[in-house]
Amino acid sequence: MKKRESGTLRKVLSLVHKLTPGYLALLLIIKMLSAALPFIGIFFSSKILDGIIRADGFDNIFKNVIIMISLVAVTILLQWGLEIIQGVKKFELKNKINQMISLKTMDIDYDILEKHETLDMIKKAEEGMSAHGDIMAFCENLAGVIERIATIIYSVALLVPLFIPKAGVLSSDAGLFCVFLNKWYSLFLLAAVLVLHVLVSFFTNKKVAKIKMDWFERNVTFNRYFSYWFNLIFDYSIGKYIRLYKMQNLITKKIVETNDKLEGECRLMVGKNIKVMFFPTLSEFVLTLTSYAYVGLKAVYALISTGSSLLYISAYKRLVDAIAGISQTFIHVKIESRYLSFFYDYMQIENKRYEGTIPTEKRDDNVFEIEFRDVSFKYANTETYALRHVNQKIKLGTKNAVVGKNGAGKTTFIKLLCRLYEPTEGQILLNGVDIRYYDYKDYAALFSVVFQDFNLFSFPVGENIAAGKDYDKARVIECIEKSGFKARFDKFEKGLDTPLFQYHDENGVEISGGEAQKLAIARALYKDAPFVIMDEPTSALDPVAEYEIYKKFDEMVEGKTSIYISHRMSSCRFCDNILVFDEGKIVEQGNHDKLMQNGGLYSSLWNAQAQYYA
Ligand code: ADP
Repeated sequence: MKKRESGTLRKVLSLVHKLTPGYLALLLIIKMLSAALPFIGIFFSSKILDGIIRADGFDNIFKNVIIMISLVAVTILLQWGLEIIQGVKKFELKNKINQMISLKTMDIDYDILEKHETLDMIKKAEEGMSAHGDIMAFCENLAGVIERIATIIYSVALLVPLFIPKAGVLSSDAGLFCVFLNKWYSLFLLAAVLVLHVLVSFFTNKKVAKIKMDWFERNVTFNRYFSYWFNLIFDYSIGKYIRLYKMQNLITKKIVETNDKLEGECRLMVGKNIKVMFFPTLSEFVLTLTSYAYVGLKAVYALISTGSSLLYISAYKRLVDAIAGISQTFIHVKIESRYLSFFYDYMQIENKRYEGTIPTEKRDDNVFEIEFRDVSFKYANTETYALRHVNQKIKLGTKNAVVGKNGAGKTTFIKLLCRLYEPTEGQILLNGVDIRYYDYKDYAALFSVVFQDFNLFSFPVGENIAAGKDYDKARVIECIEKSGFKARFDKFEKGLDTPLFQYHDENGVEISGGEAQKLAIARALYKDAPFVIMDEPTSALDPVAEYEIYKKFDEMVEGKTSIYISHRMSSCRFCDNILVFDEGKIVEQGNHDKLMQNGGLYSSLWNAQAQYYA
């Protein structure tokens, strides 16, 4: 076994043992029992048959029948009980592995997560661990070696008498062929066809496994697309667009295209498999014919009893299957190690983000000052800079606005500030220290953010706002009040326990876009962080609700530093400092009056909007 396989093998076994202790031992016992089961039948049925042929008494035959039935029943019962326990453990193991993949995905650097190749790696890890590699099947295969070794021992023990020469067989009486069959070395005939069949099976299986692996690697992206289309269809919130824009045909076409591609690849794989599978079928035919002829002729020449010929044929067939099975296990281990290694490849992706260690100061006075020092940023796989040479201090306790045309770099500026990405050049400092040196979780705790694509979850309202299970109910309700959601909230029969959306609960409530935005604002307020960042926080609100929120903003952000991205120029008017972005640069800044006097980009944006209100 090569280093990679044995490495994966060790890692898999220790992972399984760590996640579900006892699972491997259980598997071994079950395999030993299932190896023994057929031999009980083979052994006793040949005894019973011989007894009938010899016309033994009924008692003797009946005794063998009872022993056989009792042994089979006990073995089956034991196996059944253990398999139930194993089933539970299997479920537990699968859940724990899914949990590992989920936790990793929630923790991985954001810029790594959004890459196409990472999404493929996640799919490979998931499928490698379940659909294809299947860690449980991998362990069963390994335990299968024990079952097969046991089968080899049982069948060899049963086969030994077949090769013991019968005394008194003379060539003059029986003929040369009969004498040859009676010699112990005639076993080489059976051994030769056995070796031939095992070798043919081994190379064929190796080839089949390779064909399957190539197919898997080639199709992982298409499989992911397939999952994407299906998730889209079953997400009822997207259902309205599908209906109104009559997208059924478009989506069906895309599914059919992906399906055709996958089906074509599947047909290709099956075609290749059929060709290679011809050889083991042929060798098995030769093997079966030889073994029947060998054992049958021995019975005809009266070298063995008729009853035992049944036993020898079954034992020989099981011996062949067991040896072929062991050789196949090596292929499985090799190939499944490759599938399982996708899981380890994914788990080993290292975050590039510098994981700082310095705790942020827990300051009651919220004295935190941010500085962008010559910051430039380029998204991965893009040529142009989204931000270029940004130098900016955000002063403590100020109200800041960020304005500019679409694509000017406003959201990127905020994402860098929140450490979702790291600057390509330059530094961002918090109280004079590069933000990368701060402990990430500590740093993230400084920001209450409402992005434009705020997401609410199909959890109860309270958990959505508090972003946790244990929360201060009074404070959650206070935030609901401040964000203007109280009137709607009062109608919820289950209060904070009211589930949002119908995904997980038939009593889940549906809310409007504006109401969802109010909840997202409440979530930001509940976090009570020293920086409040809102990207178009009122875009979905009606004019009255927007007015109400803006009236309350002063109170909400009192003592904090706030940054608003807004296209409603009127909302900037009351900010201390307005940063005007254009093509990734800050081209102007100051308060409203100063910027209007400048007559630059800000005033043209303002005038463009103001003319509709004039
Ligand atoms: P704004 O918020 O001002 O509308 P953004 O900061 O979102 O603009 O975008 C700035 C530029 O960066 C745009 O050209 C946009 O297309 C590009 N961009 C934004 N997000 C990504 C991303 N994840 N990958 C590549 N380019 C991006």
